[in-house]
Amino acid sequence: MTRRLEGRTALVTGGSRGIGRAIALELAIAGARVGISYVSNATAADATVAELEAAGGEARAFACDVGEGEAVEGLVKGFLDWTGGRIDILVNNAGITRDGLLMRMSDADWDAVLDTNLKGTFLVTRAVSRSMIKQRFGRIINVSSVVGLMGNAGQANYAASKAGLIGFTKSLAKELGSRNILVNAVAPGFIRSEMTDGLGDDLKRKYLEQLPVGRFGEPQEVAALVVFLAAEGTYITGQVINVDGGILT
Ligand code: NAP
Repeated sequence: MTRRLEGRTALVTGGSRGIGRAIALELAIAGARVGISYVSNATAADATVAELEAAGGEARAFACDVGEGEAVEGLVKGFLDWTGGRIDILVNNAGITRDGLLMRMSDADWDAVLDTNLKGTFLVTRAVSRSMIKQRFGRIINVSSVVGLMGNAGQANYAASKAGLIGFTKSLAKELGSRNILVNAVAPGFIRSEMTDGLGDDLKRKYLEQLPVGRFGEPQEVAALVVFLAAEGTYITGQVINVDGGILT
């Protein structure tokens, strides 16, 4: 059960912090060689690489804005050079929020969220798909959100990007299933991370009241599902699996 991803390679976008960091760590503990990408915080990325290595894994950090086509080509080339051309697992986790009510939402805030969360996933997935098709093996896990399923006032851009990921996931599952490439989405609810630490106390209290389990989730609880899909989910594709403490029931 422990080293169930021995010999596999994995790329986790936005793997330097928060949920991505927890996913990278669990993949490394399971035996995968893990590349993480980040956009600006090299210190956090280096610290995460050190942590993965301390856990017995082989790891490397790559700087890349996933919304930029050329940068993504460079990321995937760098990753494949490092692994000898193999990419088994892709976790599209990089994501941002730029919250605001519609009337006041700027074009820049709309574009930034859609470019990172949705276009970024498209660019990275397209860039790795050739290798996965050649290998006739791939596990792609897209990190969506319950907000993509239920909407949220003040997050029209974020909800649209996360709902878009679900359509993207289901389409690719149909396109790539015959090549043994399985594509799923996970939809976290309220998970403790720097992204959510910034929310006001009133909003946090409101979410807690709606949560059947009465607590926020931990990044490791999302990571456990991602590792399951990567290692054990051999007949699961095109699904959206919530890790949300029952907020969407
Ligand atoms: P986080 O703590 O803010 O970490 C975001 C990660 O993404 C960082 O590694 C960051 O790199 C990277 N990143 C941001 N913009 C990027 C870009 N343009 N290109 C490449 N990498 C980029 O976020 P989180 O809370 O762990 O969220 C991770 C994912 O889970 C996101 O997709 C988010 O939407 C989703 N999610 C989170 C929650 C939650 O409650 N936290 C709930 C549902 C879904 P730098 O360190 O360089 O900035």
